Amino acid sequence: LSTETPPSGDLREEYQSLADQVRKYRFAYYNEDAPLVSDAEFDELYRRLEELEALHPELVTNDSPTQEVGGEISAAFTPVEHLQRMYSLEDVFSLDELDAWVRRAEASVANIAPGEKIKWLTELKIDGLAVNLLYRNGELVRAATRGDGTTGEDITHNVLTIKSIPRSLKGTDIPAEMEIRGEVFIPSKEFAHLNETMVEAGKAPFANPRNAAAGSLRQKDPEVTAQRPLSMYVHGIGAREGLSATSQSETYELLKAWGLPTSPYYKVLDSYEQVLDFIAVNGEHRHDLSHEIDGIVVKVDDFGLQRALGHTSRVPRWSVAYKYPPEEVNTKLLDIRVNV
Ligand code: NAD
Repeated sequence: LSTETPPSGDLREEYQSLADQVRKYRFAYYNEDAPLVSDAEFDELYRRLEELEALHPELVTNDSPTQEVGGEISAAFTPVEHLQRMYSLEDVFSLDELDAWVRRAEASVANIAPGEKIKWLTELKIDGLAVNLLYRNGELVRAATRGDGTTGEDITHNVLTIKSIPRSLKGTDIPAEMEIRGEVFIPSKEFAHLNETMVEAGKAPFANPRNAAAGSLRQKDPEVTAQRPLSMYVHGIGAREGLSATSQSETYELLKAWGLPTSPYYKVLDSYEQVLDFIAVNGEHRHDLSHEIDGIVVKVDDFGLQRALGHTSRVPRWSVAYKYPPEEVNTKLLDIRVNV
């Protein structure tokens, strides 16, 4: 491939077929909660699409999967406009790529705020389903899936069955309006137990906790959702009115005080070396954690810097997801019928 030659018919065809494949796999994953390929296979295809686009920008169309947050809205749910857009995350698949990303972020910050040292907020990348909770005057008024980032699906009735999500916030300084984003998931022990009960009842087990969580949350009947051991950790905010915090970590402390479930695993770190340690330690112990993870999320902690770094159409420029190398178990799952 060369940047100098215009794309041949073959290349355009390869590009179209790759984009169609990515769309098909995304649809199965997000809309049917029944993936057709492993995450590692999907990531490889997606990467190939990104590489082709980088070499031949003239191939890129507005509806390319690389320009969109993956996921559509099922007709089974009422569409809901998020007050503030929900983004995906930029993925990196090696420490070299992470180094390059961190260097770029540091260079941007050196331009924006000379002399300012970045504090890194490191978190586990929970393998679940993104949910947006809207609180007004401390009351949960709506819950929605991420959908295409602008519009999600109304799953309020199902979310109300999750015990760790408060209907009313407690404490002081509660904003008049606030979107709180997080991941709904099924903890590993509960997942094993859920699958045992499925098999005992003569039903097909779930392929993995992520699909079980997504399938359970996107049910028409909240009574089915209520029987599933769903949990949530919050990891972000959208629209806010009257929030006093100036950083992501300060916000987590407030969210925790208001009764929202924050992860016990996050850390605020002063140096990139400490970020690398966090990645190494959690990689080594990933199976000792209470839930499945597929990587580590690294965020610039300060809100002022986050605002200055901004977003692309798909991802924030102040955050990155380091993905651990795929484990063999991912590919074995493909033969198992997914139950939702
Ligand atoms: P993503 O899952 O890589 O990252 C974005 C999401 O991470 C956010 O929306 C958020 O909900 C979640 N997240 C988890 N922990 C977080 C934390 N601590 N802080 C912030 N966000 C956190 O991106 P995506 O666009 O949702 O999906 C892409 C991934 O989904 C791919 O990398 C692939 O592995 C998987 N996928 C698989 C298939 C398949 O067919 N197997 C298809 C589509 C997507």
